Amino acid sequence: MINHLVIIGVGLIGSSLSLALKDSGNVNKVTGCGRSEKNLKKGVKLGVIDDYALDIAAAVKEADVIVVAVPLGAMREVFSQISTSLKPAAVITDVGSAKETVMQDASEILGDKVSRFVGGHPIAGTENSGVEAGFSSLYQERKVILTPAQDTDEDAVNVVENMWRACGAQVEHMEVHHHDMVLAATSHLPHMLAFSLVSHLSKMTDQDEIFNYAAGGFRDFTRIASSDPVMWRDICLANGDALVKLIQGYKEELDHIASAIQNNDPEALFDLFRDAKHTRDQLRHL
Ligand code: NAP
Repeated sequence: MINHLVIIGVGLIGSSLSLALKDSGNVNKVTGCGRSEKNLKKGVKLGVIDDYALDIAAAVKEADVIVVAVPLGAMREVFSQISTSLKPAAVITDVGSAKETVMQDASEILGDKVSRFVGGHPIAGTENSGVEAGFSSLYQERKVILTPAQDTDEDAVNVVENMWRACGAQVEHMEVHHHDMVLAATSHLPHMLAFSLVSHLSKMTDQDEIFNYAAGGFRDFTRIASSDPVMWRDICLANGDALVKLIQGYKEELDHIASAIQNNDPEALFDLFRDAKHTRDQLRHL
């Protein structure tokens, strides 16, 4: 049971966390913070948060757990605002989709409080944003990756693990660099493909006609191109090295398909599609 939780960034991820903890009876009071009072008022009205504050430093003074759920580019600024106001026993965690820059920001800004910081990333989400997008079952049976450092306090790690388990999630630990490499492949690259496909087609002269005939396959493949542009800009900037390597490799794969088509090479095409189908068919957890 968390007595006083402060969520900084009451959007999809922050509000879903609050709703999950409230529904399972694992939090006493949730205070929301952010820049837009309108969004926070909506959060109170929807029952996502109990109250709100625009002054982040003041809001965290009595908090037991602080969850930073803002876009990656805003993490550093938020850490600066809270660093001198935290209770000694307070536990701080985040939900950012890349971990190396967040861990770096936390170690540079939080000073001696960094041992109370536990990096985290729920592997769950949708293409929707904002407080209305949240729902309490988002983390049910989903993975949450934590990236504690060697000198992170054990009790702080336990608090964050228990928080996510109370939301129905399975918690795993991962080394920071490995996390960013793995997530670049399974999440960040697919988003680049969806954004670039929609961008490419939208520049074609007959785009209206093209989109008019788009159906299930197009819808499935491009759903994530409706994701928040600020969030994805920040993920690209935070995980650029891993992502660019994967984009280069993917371009080679597309070139390989284009050459097989140009060379009228049915075997090369069949082999590639058969192997990809075999791999996809094995992913039974999806
Ligand atoms: P979201 O729905 O857009 O919510 C982000 C919230 O952060 C907004 O409510 C916004 O409220 C607040 N915010 C933005 N800049 C801020 C700042 N400078 N100071 C204080 N508050 C600020 O985004 P989300 O999908 O919940 O994503 C939040 C984090 O979760 C990101 O770091 C993302 O990488 C990570 N994540 C997302 C997903 C996903 O699928 N969406 C999955 C896993 C992890 P105001 O405008 O009122 O400030």
